[in-house]
Amino acid sequence: MQRTLSAESLAGHPLDALVNVSSLLQQPVGTAVTCRIEEMLRSTEPPLVTGAVTLTHTSRGMTVSGAGTANVILTCMRCLDEYCEHLVFTIEEELHPEPGFADRRGADGFETLGEVRISRNHTLDLGEIIRQHIVLHVPFKPLCRTDCPGLEEMHPDG
Ligand SMILES: [Zn+2]
Repeated sequence: MQRTLSAESLAGHPLDALVNVSSLLQQPVGTAVTCRIEEMLRSTEPPLVTGAVTLTHTSRGMTVSGAGTANVILTCMRCLDEYCEHLVFTIEEELHPEPGFADRRGADGFETLGEVRISRNHTLDLGEIIRQHIVLHVPFKPLCRTDCPGLEEMHPDG
């Protein structure tokens, strides 16, 4: 079982965390539940991702907010070595019932940005939401350390 994430694995579907939100959506607006990410993933020890996510039932649907850390293997842009980035991410998402989806599928789906996030059986693919937010927080110019000398100093001419 893999113990780290990488740029390659993050392009796929590396995090498996499905949450049934039907009971939350039956609670009064304002009801919130907080889940530990590592407990939902329950895949590896030490966990790939740690943190907490709060799901809140709102008048318009529900919100997903949270924060966590993930260890991701990246390639340093200076020395081209792989290193483990201790990546901090935050999640802020709002999901709305989508009438078009309900018409098409005859079910009360929820979506955000055109992507269905809660299926007709009220299962939220939280692993996919977490994955996308980790990807958003991957550094644009990864460095193994801020003072990495890079290739030229490590391999001087001659
Ligand atoms: Zn480096």
